[in-house]
Amino acid sequence: MDLLHSGWAALEQKLSFVATDSVDWKSFVQFSSWIVTLFESYLLIRQYPLYSKTSPPKELEKYFDEEVFRKSQNYGKDKAKFSLVTGLLKQILDSTLIHSGFYAWAWDFAGEIIGYFGYSSEYEITQSLAFSAILFLASSIPSIPISVYATFVLEEKHGFNKTTPSLFVSDLLKSWILAFVIGGPFLSAFLYVFKWAGDRFVPWLMAFLLFFQITMVIIYPTLIQPLFNKLSPLPDGELRTRTEALASKLKFPLKHLYEIDGSKRSSHSNAYFFGLPWSKHIVIFDTLIKESKPAEVEAVLAHELGHWYHMHPTKLLCISQVHIFTILALFPAFLHSPQFLRSFDFSDKVAAHPPTIVAFLLFQMILTPLEAFVGIGLNFISRHFEWEADRFACDLQDRLKDPEMTDMGDRLGRALIALHVKNLSTVWVDWLCVYSAYHHSHPTLTERLKAMEGFRARKDVHIKKEL
Ligand SMILES: [Zn+2]
Repeated sequence: MDLLHSGWAALEQKLSFVATDSVDWKSFVQFSSWIVTLFESYLLIRQYPLYSKTSPPKELEKYFDEEVFRKSQNYGKDKAKFSLVTGLLKQILDSTLIHSGFYAWAWDFAGEIIGYFGYSSEYEITQSLAFSAILFLASSIPSIPISVYATFVLEEKHGFNKTTPSLFVSDLLKSWILAFVIGGPFLSAFLYVFKWAGDRFVPWLMAFLLFFQITMVIIYPTLIQPLFNKLSPLPDGELRTRTEALASKLKFPLKHLYEIDGSKRSSHSNAYFFGLPWSKHIVIFDTLIKESKPAEVEAVLAHELGHWYHMHPTKLLCISQVHIFTILALFPAFLHSPQFLRSFDFSDKVAAHPPTIVAFLLFQMILTPLEAFVGIGLNFISRHFEWEADRFACDLQDRLKDPEMTDMGDRLGRALIALHVKNLSTVWVDWLCVYSAYHHSHPTLTERLKAMEGFRARKDVHIKKEL
C-alpha cells in the first residue's frame, strides 16, 4: 500500500508541470493524432498490392476456387480503399474541430442552451449533458453518409447487404435514443460520483464503472438486443442436441440457446456467448446455421467455449480495469490545470475552474498515442486468446475422453474455411500489419490452420512415443 502511495506521489510530482508550465497541448494533440492516422494509412497502403495477387496462399489453394478468390480480393480492395478514405476524412474533421476551437465554443453554447431554460453555469452537470449532446451530434451527423455508403454501396456491391433503407433509419433512430437514454444518466452519475468523492475519486469511479459494465451485461441481452434483433430459442434438432451435450460435458452453465436473425441486415455469419458466470447464453447466427453442418457449428462453439474455459472475457475485464485505473490516476494533474484548458482556446473564466467533462475529454485526446499502443497490446493478447481457444477445441477429445470428438480440429478448420469463404475475408495479409497486430484482433486464417496442424502433429508425436 505504501509502495502504491509513494508511487502515486512520485507520479503527481512528475506531472506537476501540467499545472505550471504553458505547454502547447493543442499542437501536441494535432501532431500525435496525425502520426497515428498516417501510420494506419501506411499499413493500408502496404496491404493494397496484395489484393492484386491472382492466387491464394498455397495452404488455401484447395479451398478457394478462382471465382471466390477473385471476389474476396475485390472485396478486400474496396474495403481497404474505404478505410483509407474514411480514416483520413475523420482525422481531417477532428483536426479542424480542434484547430477552430470548437470545443470551447460548444461549452459556451451549452451554457447558453441551459441558460435559456433558466439554469446558470452553477449547474455543471446539466451544462455537461448539453455539451455532450452537441459533441454527439457533431460526431454522429458526419458519420451518417459514411455508413450509408458502407451499407448500401460497399456491402451491397459485394452481395452482403440485407438492410433495407427503412431498417437503416429505424436502427439509427433507436441507437440515438439509446445513446440519450443510457448515456445521459450514465454521464450524470459519473460526474456526480466524481464531484462527491473529491480527491479520492479513483476507487469510487472504478467501482461505479465496474457496476455499470456488469449492469450492461445483464440488460443488453434482455432489453437492448431485442430492439434490433429477434432472438428465438434454437429449435430442437441435431445442432441443439450437440450443443447441449457439449455444454454439459464441459459444465458450461448454459441457460439459453438462441438463434439470432443476423440475416436481417447482412449475410456475414458468426456465433458468440454472453452472460453472468452462473448463467450463460449462446447465440448462433441464422446465417451460420444455414451455411455449415451441425458438426461444424459445434466446432465453432467448441472454440467459443474455449474462450470461456480459459476465462478470456474475465481476463479482458481485468485488463480493462488496469487500463481505466491508469487513465484515472493520471487525470488529476490535468484536471487542476487552467493552462491545459487555455491551450485549447477556453476562456480564462472557464479555465479558472475547469469543468470535469471538458478536462476529461481533452485529457483523452492527449492520450491518443498511448491508446494506439494499448490497442496494439490488446490485439496482441486477443490473438493469443484465439489460438488458445482453437487449441482447446482441437484438444477436446483428450479432455473429455470422447472418441466422437477426435476430428474436432478438422471440423473447426472446415468451419473456419467456410466462414472465410462466405465472408470473403482477406487471405493475403501484409507481414507488418500482422506483426504490429494493427487492425488484427484475430490471427489470419492461414496462421490458424497452420497452428492447428501444429497441435495435431505434436499430438501424433506424443501418441507415437506412448506406443
Ligand atoms: Zn474466438
